[in-house]
Amino acid sequence: MTTECDKCGRDAVHYAAYSGAHLCQEHLCRSVEKRVRRRIREDGLLSDDATPEEPETWVIGLSGGKDSVVLTHILDETFGKDPRVDLVALSIHEGIEGYRDASLDACVDLCEDLDLRHEVVTYEEEFGVRMDDVAEDDPLNMAPCAYCGVFRRDLLAGYAAEFGADKLLTGHNLDDEAQTALMNFLEGDVKQVAKHFDASLGSFDAREDSEQFVPRAKPLRDVPEKEVALYARFRDLPAHITECPHASEAYRGEIQQLLLRLEENHPGVRHSIMSGYEELAELAARDNREEQGASENAPDSLGECERCGSPTAGDVCRKCQLVDAVGGD
Ligand code: SF4
Ligand code: ZN
Repeated sequence: MTTECDKCGRDAVHYAAYSGAHLCQEHLCRSVEKRVRRRIREDGLLSDDATPEEPETWVIGLSGGKDSVVLTHILDETFGKDPRVDLVALSIHEGIEGYRDASLDACVDLCEDLDLRHEVVTYEEEFGVRMDDVAEDDPLNMAPCAYCGVFRRDLLAGYAAEFGADKLLTGHNLDDEAQTALMNFLEGDVKQVAKHFDASLGSFDAREDSEQFVPRAKPLRDVPEKEVALYARFRDLPAHITECPHASEAYRGEIQQLLLRLEENHPGVRHSIMSGYEELAELAARDNREEQGASENAPDSLGECERCGSPTAGDVCRKCQLVDAVGGD
């Protein structure tokens, strides 16, 4: 026997145990869209100062995976015709044979469909390296993702600033966020907890005061991964699904399995982890700030990397150190 959609009585395709809702294709999609829009509203993403004469620029990190494709699609539906917002999609090619070419095709298709400005930058042009070679040489004996994550964050932040972005948006979903939260807990990393608040939760006004960073936002962070995947399928979006051949975050994989098991037995646990985590992050960030107010290490007193000019606490930023190590330029 099939279950009926709570909203319309058609066949339900999804049961959300954390809310008790049975939903058909159409109502699942609408519910995802509603949550993303509510998140954008509650986060105050669109500032009151944005006008058709002086619109805000939002740069979207578009990898071609389901999360960023869904985010881009919903942002375009919501703001594509709003003269107060200019959307720019930014894709990064890491130099991973086969894998990234296919997902870039998905990005190109989507942006053509939506008539959206699309920029592509490559590790090869920017740093003179390809991830396939980095993974093979691995001079510092780390996981490939440890290099790749630093390079990607550097390019997203640098290009967002270059495009004059007011916000940098990424497609992290509820599962991603709950995994990261749990990993930071388990590693006892309070500084990272505080950063979570500074990077994606603090009021945008406060963050705009700090000129070195484009404020970040994660509008999908209330939506479970599975619902993002269903949305991409039901809306027939050109998302790319294979996994990167260098994916090596074994610890994250373990946490992911643990969380899925917990969620099955205790529906809603991802949501409650995140609401507790966000409260803690705010406290930790406040504490941090008070401490920094008394010392010279305040965030605004970050120096500039002597190679590339990015904000850093040392002389040479982490990205430039890694580029050096892997023999880039
Ligand atoms: Fe880079 Fe790791 Fe992602 Fe592959 S899985 S693209 S190596 S961060
Ligand atoms: Zn640097």
